[in-house]
Amino acid sequence: MTEMTRLGLPTTVQACLFDLDGVVTRTAVVHAAAWKETFDAFLRARDGEGFRPFDAVADYDEYVDGRPRADGVRTFLASRGIGLPEGGPGDPPDAETVNGLGNRKNELLLERIRTGGVEAYDSTLRYLRAVRADGLRTGIVSSSANCRDVLRAIDAEDLFDVRIDGVVAAERGLPGKPRPDTFLAAARDLGVEAGRAAVFEDALAGMDAGRAGGFGYVVGVDRVGQTEALYAHGADVVVKDLAELGEAE
Ligand SMILES: [Mg+2]
Repeated sequence: MTEMTRLGLPTTVQACLFDLDGVVTRTAVVHAAAWKETFDAFLRARDGEGFRPFDAVADYDEYVDGRPRADGVRTFLASRGIGLPEGGPGDPPDAETVNGLGNRKNELLLERIRTGGVEAYDSTLRYLRAVRADGLRTGIVSSSANCRDVLRAIDAEDLFDVRIDGVVAAERGLPGKPRPDTFLAAARDLGVEAGRAAVFEDALAGMDAGRAGGFGYVVGVDRVGQTEALYAHGADVVVKDLAELGEAE
């Protein structure tokens, strides 16, 4: 039997790598809503009123959540048999290209973040402080290009020793989740082997990344009732909230 700490981690774990949206912040629902608005407008214009809407739970979990923005557009559209030209990062939000749709979604997301603010999961912040107090190192690993702004908005930037987000991944040419490269980069920057790092993720693509990277422990965070799918994608344990892992005083 693996020996566990008071915080519910194998005693061999030296670093904790956290996804942002859905693990640290309650932004997963905001992302899903922005994607739905984007895709439904696109599908309605294409197929008329009888269009099949984007499912903000099933389609979001399967094709979009956790992936870099352009990959999310491509993967969802492919599931509907639709291919669009790539276009370029500077495409206007109304361009019918992969980048254009991605930019539209980002515009809607930022609008929602600005007007609704960003909410953190307090239990995750408590857990972060507790693992750091126990001497573990921490990293934030997010596909989001807005990661830094979001961390500042919730005053949590200094809870992480390293940050690998959409901006850093683009600079270093790292492929996003479900590939493990961004998590592996965070572990490397912390000087910890993957086998001694734990991954905290709410996305199926994040579970895949954790498994593919050979991480020591993969915690699935189930905010939407997809416990079985998280286990099927490689979680070692699934919790609804990080407080379930152990008492962080
Ligand atoms: Mg997430």
